[in-house]
Amino acid sequence: MNHTYSRRNFIQTSVMAGAVLAAKPHLVAATSAVAAPKPAFPVADYHVHLSPTLSIEQALNLGTERGVQIGIVEHPGPSYPINTDAELKQYIDNLRKYPVRIGLQPVYAGWSKAFSKSLLGELDYVLMDALTLPNPDGTWLAIWQIDTHVDDEEAFMTRYMQFIEQVMTTEPIDIFAWPTFLPVPIARQYKQLWTRPRVDRIIDLAKARKLAIEINEVAHVPDENFILQAKRAGLKFTFGTDSRNQNAAHFYYCYQMAQKCGLREADMFVPKKK
Ligand SMILES: [Zn+2]
Repeated sequence: MNHTYSRRNFIQTSVMAGAVLAAKPHLVAATSAVAAPKPAFPVADYHVHLSPTLSIEQALNLGTERGVQIGIVEHPGPSYPINTDAELKQYIDNLRKYPVRIGLQPVYAGWSKAFSKSLLGELDYVLMDALTLPNPDGTWLAIWQIDTHVDDEEAFMTRYMQFIEQVMTTEPIDIFAWPTFLPVPIARQYKQLWTRPRVDRIIDLAKARKLAIEINEVAHVPDENFILQAKRAGLKFTFGTDSRNQNAAHFYYCYQMAQKCGLREADMFVPKKK
């Protein structure tokens, strides 16, 4: 099965079901509320995928139109286009011609072993989520898929937290993406399942390694309480659309959270200097 396609397909066609479930209170409120304005500080979309429906030129045009800087990511690893240093170098060299940040979005734990450290150091950032859980038999459970089954939500949360912990402590990344996303069958239990100890743990892990927190436009995560607590802990944030089309640089939830949580320029992630 083509993993790249299925992930894209999910995001383009199925995500609204999950987003509606996950973010119902926000959406209900949104219908009667005015969209929050673009923040006064410089805004970037760090989660843009180039695709047959989004060329680099189109992404840049959307960024210019919407007053948003663009950060491009691509997946490395099996079934994805970047698997060797040569492929990673070509990816970086191709994008260097454009005024974009250059990132990578690994999916599988241990991905970095395939690349030399010096070449990874040329990237502006690495963004990773914890949505592709390893199974004991070497396969993966992709919890962003709409048909994910959860038989026992507490057992699921224990396993999910273990993988979050692994990603946030052992993977060489800068941004923790899709934080607190829940699979569709349990998305309505967000407040119940993201207990204080679990939220505290994620925030402590991010703080220990200075990982930025992605505010994810597609899934409407994390929620306002998480963002406020992360802000109090001194964490930095990014906005991400996880888009492969004209949705690049188009923010609604991120701007709403920026306004509600009083995010300032100093709260936003800045890529490491070269
Ligand atoms: Zn992505």
